[in-house]
Amino acid sequence: MMQMPFYASLEEVRSAATACQACRRARQRSRMVAGSGSVTANLMLVAEYPSQRDDRTGEPFSGPAGDYLDELLCAAGTDRSQIYITNIVRCYATETGRAGDRIRSATKRERDACGVWMDLELQFVDPTVILAVGAPAAAALIGDDFQLTQQRGRWFQRADGRWIMGTMQPAYVLRMRTHEPKRAVPLHQLVLDDIRAAVSRSQG
Ligand code: SF4
Repeated sequence: MMQMPFYASLEEVRSAATACQACRRARQRSRMVAGSGSVTANLMLVAEYPSQRDDRTGEPFSGPAGDYLDELLCAAGTDRSQIYITNIVRCYATETGRAGDRIRSATKRERDACGVWMDLELQFVDPTVILAVGAPAAAALIGDDFQLTQQRGRWFQRADGRWIMGTMQPAYVLRMRTHEPKRAVPLHQLVLDDIRAAVSRSQG
């Protein structure tokens, strides 16, 4: 079993992660994007990776997807100052496709490497409820066989006792709002219902 490094505070964790070179995403990032929000939050929201905008700002969920997340949080009766937001991997990376460079999903090796920081954030923030946004984040935290289409909105209890739910990535719903607004209406409602359920459980 891997020995967990000792840190006295979340600030020390963030500071150490800034220099992390534990996976090849370190070569492409501008900066490591640390988790952000309340360090005593009962609700932790976890996405897969930082966006290109996050890579510039150093903040998770910055830019249009962040604005949309703020809208959802407000409708659910909370805001960023009351929750903690982080990612499965903390560095932005791209790959080259037919249409040029695009953001790259995390490999298992990268998820495992960044899991040290995830575990430390969980240890220090100690939320009772986790909301995983997007299938990759949910699979990483719930189990590889998690299926978003069938299991979205369902509660699971992790071995550490925390309750966790997987829902859609707000960035995906935002893209649907732009390109297929009619189809986006029920998706918006589903993700809002899931965020409300997570907020409610975290306050219970
Ligand atoms: S993604 Fe995580 S493990 Fe990889 S370099 Fe960044 S902080 Fe380190």
